[in-house]
Amino acid sequence: MREIVLIKNGELALKGLNRSSFEDVLIKNMRRHLAPLGTFQFTKSQSTIMVEPEDPDTDLDDTVDALTRVFGIHSVSPALAVDKDWQSVCSTAYMLMDKEIEKNPNFSFKVFARRSDKHYFMNSDGINRELGHLILERYPSVRVDIHKPEVSLSVEIRDRAYLYCEEIPCANGMPVGTAGRATLLISGGIDSPVAGYMMAKRGLILSAVHFYSYPYTSERARDKVVDLTRLLSRYAGPIRLHLVPFTDIQMTIYEQCPSKETTVIMRRLMMKIAQRIAEKEGARALITGEALGQVASQTLESLCVTNDAVTMPVFRPLIGFDKDDIMDLSRKIGTYETSILPYEDCCTVFVPKHPVTKPVLEDLRASEAKVDFSEMIEHAISDSELMIIK
Ligand code: ATP
Ligand code: MG
Repeated sequence: MREIVLIKNGELALKGLNRSSFEDVLIKNMRRHLAPLGTFQFTKSQSTIMVEPEDPDTDLDDTVDALTRVFGIHSVSPALAVDKDWQSVCSTAYMLMDKEIEKNPNFSFKVFARRSDKHYFMNSDGINRELGHLILERYPSVRVDIHKPEVSLSVEIRDRAYLYCEEIPCANGMPVGTAGRATLLISGGIDSPVAGYMMAKRGLILSAVHFYSYPYTSERARDKVVDLTRLLSRYAGPIRLHLVPFTDIQMTIYEQCPSKETTVIMRRLMMKIAQRIAEKEGARALITGEALGQVASQTLESLCVTNDAVTMPVFRPLIGFDKDDIMDLSRKIGTYETSILPYEDCCTVFVPKHPVTKPVLEDLRASEAKVDFSEMIEHAISDSELMIIK
């Protein structure tokens, strides 16, 4: 008997002819997530992937925990794999039932058999009835409930028999790497890490760009962004993080542009630099944590003006989210506690008292054109520092 983990794919199951290549990416990602725990064998079989530790002493709880963060997995089930002779199936079913009885002696259950080995001597219905009957005989305190069982005993007859009761929900989405690469503008705030999570969940490989303004922002603010990127990489895999010095540009905007326009001009320059870095890395879109109406720089007019600075598509997965919903998600993915640490972001350092909420594109372009930012942009890019976060 072996303890293994059965993986149920999410949307991948719908991918028709491409499914196999999507599954290969998923397996590569699982291998990477599980690498610290040992080596594993992966076997594809219909819409299921079996993960079997090479060393039987590998901790399956840790394995399951790591897999819950891999995008592209709908659910995982720790299962017992045994020979498929009827005797072994029954004795394994009893082992699982013994465990359930320990937790609660009076549960309702059903047997849910699936048979991909069509030559098996009994069909699924037969297994359900026969095994259900044997369990009822052996455990007088339990009862059958076909519709809402407290315990569902799955029996899958394949090359071997796989039995399990648990189905642990996972992160879902698409495997990272099946959708190309995009560049996340990451601040130390609550929103941008959540935005990155959502887009990695749709299969994008992330790289990230962070702008900092020493000495107006502290080293701790920068460390916080590195920490947030690391938390994100627990789901998204390795992230190339570019740390871009932004002080000169920000000071220049502050000194030479109309005060009420400074935030939007700063946003435009951030986008331009991010796009340049994205292009170098083969990324094809930018990602931000903006939500419509959240602040002055996120009104529809401001977003239009920000968009105008770049040609790449800008993904804003939080655009329709309330702050409460974003906060809930950030708690769920584990970035919230780090995001709320009180270190200043460069966006909050030079905030004008009365920012425009309805910027006019022509005015902004005119204000921007009065200053030659090109050399400063080149410097910011060439002085930026690359960290590979994993
Ligand atoms: P967040 O919580 O992500 O900081 P926010 O609600 O504070 O977002 P803004 O400060 O206006 O909003 O920033 C909007 C978006 O711009 C952020 O979600 C992020 O994508 C990007 N951004 C802001 N500051 C930075 C920064 N210092 N470096 C990189 N990107 C940034
Ligand atoms: Mg912010």
